[in-house]
Amino acid sequence: MEKRNYILPFIMLAVFETVAVTLWLTKDNLFYLFNFSYIGISISLGMFLYIRKYKYARRIVQLLVGLYMLIYLGVICNENMQIEGFWYYLFTGVFEAATIHYAVAKIFGPLLFGRGWCGYACWTAMILDFLPYKVPAQPRKKIGWIRYITFAASLIFVAALFLAKAGNMERIMFWAFVIGNIAYYGVGIALAFAFKDNRAFCKYICPITVFLKPMSYFAMIRVTCDKEKCVSCGKCKKVCPMNVNVTDNSRNRENGTECILCMECVRNCPKNAL
Ligand code: SF4
Ligand code: SF4
Ligand code: SF4
Repeated sequence: MEKRNYILPFIMLAVFETVAVTLWLTKDNLFYLFNFSYIGISISLGMFLYIRKYKYARRIVQLLVGLYMLIYLGVICNENMQIEGFWYYLFTGVFEAATIHYAVAKIFGPLLFGRGWCGYACWTAMILDFLPYKVPAQPRKKIGWIRYITFAASLIFVAALFLAKAGNMERIMFWAFVIGNIAYYGVGIALAFAFKDNRAFCKYICPITVFLKPMSYFAMIRVTCDKEKCVSCGKCKKVCPMNVNVTDNSRNRENGTECILCMECVRNCPKNAL
């Protein structure tokens, strides 16, 4: 591995530190310094390990960031980091961690890094990726429309709380976070076994993909294929957890907005064509 590649983790760390210090000073809140420094260090460490060809680099980042958001921000700080929390803070006009998190990771960030969130940070997938079906054992189902129902349900749930002028909203949102996560894990694990596919929940149910898919269509960072080197062996498609037709370089490629940048295709290509 070339030495200059090691610069990338430092650039990433510098970007996160800039955001951390800027938000800390402008908002006079030390939390932002800690939060963005922690995430920056975790991602940079993962990039460093990936460059070192460490097999579990992605999983380490996923656990470091996912557990931090689930346990620290969600359970300890009582921030509802799920989509209901995003609607809630949006309606109240409060610029909290959940709003920043959605804007950075799930709405505008995907224009740059696609669905990197899904590969490296999501605490739901962090657990699902421990299950045995890393590569889907069945063809993809045509039930992706379910995501629009879960998306609408999350919005209706929060809107109804506001319309009903429910008391103690903070407490309701905390329990919505706990119960919502338990439901996501339950459904995600059941679907993974039913469809023999760890990422079935991501493909058919997850409401956040309503934001993620259209934005990641325009992603600047994406895996592309060098047609000169490719020998059409098909290995990349066999190992892809998201059924992406990665040898097609067009934006419209099959399941192109599903790529989670896990790099399994890149690692397994015998010709270094990706
Ligand atoms: S699709 Fe949803 S559940 Fe799956 S990794 Fe992305 S955000 Fe997480
Ligand atoms: S694994 Fe590499 S060589 Fe094989 S089809 Fe994919 S890109 Fe081409
Ligand atoms: S295997 Fe390649 S195409 Fe498939 S999700 Fe991972 S990075 Fe994307």
